[in-house]
Amino acid sequence: MAKINESYKKLEAGYLFPEIGRRVRGFTEANPGADVIRLGIGDVTLPLAPAVVEALHAAVDEMATESGFHGYGPENGYGFLTDAIRQVDYKARGVDIDGEEIFVSDGSKQDSGNIQEIFGQGCSIAVTDPVYPVYVDTNVMAGRTGNADADGRYEGILYLPATEENGFTPAPPGERADIAYLCSPNNPTGAVASRENLGAWVAWARENDAVILFDAAYDAFIQDPDLPRSIYEIEGARECAIEMRSFSKRAGFTGVRCAYTVVPRELTGTTASGERVGLNELWGRRHATKFNSVPYVIQRAAAAALSDEGLAQTGEQVSYYMENARRIREGLAAAGFTVFAGEHAPYIWMRTPGGLSSWDFFDQLLDKARVVGTPGSGFGPSGEGYFRISAFNSHANVDEAIERIGKVFAG
Ligand SMILES: *Cc1c(COP(=O)(O)O)cnc(C)c1O
Repeated sequence: MAKINESYKKLEAGYLFPEIGRRVRGFTEANPGADVIRLGIGDVTLPLAPAVVEALHAAVDEMATESGFHGYGPENGYGFLTDAIRQVDYKARGVDIDGEEIFVSDGSKQDSGNIQEIFGQGCSIAVTDPVYPVYVDTNVMAGRTGNADADGRYEGILYLPATEENGFTPAPPGERADIAYLCSPNNPTGAVASRENLGAWVAWARENDAVILFDAAYDAFIQDPDLPRSIYEIEGARECAIEMRSFSKRAGFTGVRCAYTVVPRELTGTTASGERVGLNELWGRRHATKFNSVPYVIQRAAAAALSDEGLAQTGEQVSYYMENARRIREGLAAAGFTVFAGEHAPYIWMRTPGGLSSWDFFDQLLDKARVVGTPGSGFGPSGEGYFRISAFNSHANVDEAIERIGKVFAG
């Protein structure tokens, strides 16, 4: 008999987004034709930039020729893409990353979920709370936790509350952990880590011989050029951090699929006998064994997103979403809500009105304003009493949503 992986049974019932989908379907079935505005799931809405589309077409045409056909690509990504990444994402910010430290993949969700595989079963995990559920759930699946308690906290994971008091950017804990997941700009809170905050984390990781898994999926939304976009802008991070970036949000690639993970050569872990092993080598082995490269056509599209033209066009898309973020932030504040962040991220984090629970506010918002958001409690116990509004939509829908919310909840 094939026994199942029992750890899957520890996963909390109902992943957040399916539950949202279920409630929205219930509402639209009961109210046919209701014009529901979705500011819930973090998915982009604008079409691909022209430079990206052009590159896609050209690459498809190439693939139709004998000389331009490409089969399996290099395991870590084509040089034309890793060179563009090194130049645009790193060198331009004073950071040197080697081509062999970059692993091109089909998504940061996958990478941030798979990366735990190269670490030992007994590694202790720290996460900020609320948190992108992938970090936690993949460690649960891997058997690194006990069961969840009544609040949804898994035994064996160190939760660091992101609160109003700490500006939703927790400082490193007073205790040690082997691995810490950080995400800045943050999904779900929309908060961005300062240089000082990341500096403290890097110092903590070096002191504790820990590894930081830094998710920078939203780096392109940072508006202040002085804020760090990469953890490698912090001195000493090469010895303690893995960084993940994605084309999904910055270039509208959620349906195209391209991302990359950086594992610096200096970064090591230890064997049971205390011997140091390079994590670059381990991730390379994992990548080559379980992944067969991102399609040539897609890597051409990603490289086009990093061209001058592509950067200008995708930069306009980011600005479009950030204008939404501004309208949401200011509109909700004017309507009397307490709102946070969203200045360097496509998410606004808000306190639910009148002490409502996150899910009660979700239901009221859907029922009375026909607007879908995301309950903060779905991202972790410290998200209870908060709510995430996404800036991924049209200006018109955002304006309409704010007006409706203001009317329903004013005062
Ligand atoms: C959207 C998102 C990603 C990107 O995932 P892809 O698989 O590259 O689309 C990664 N991390 C966080 C926190 C995200 O919100």
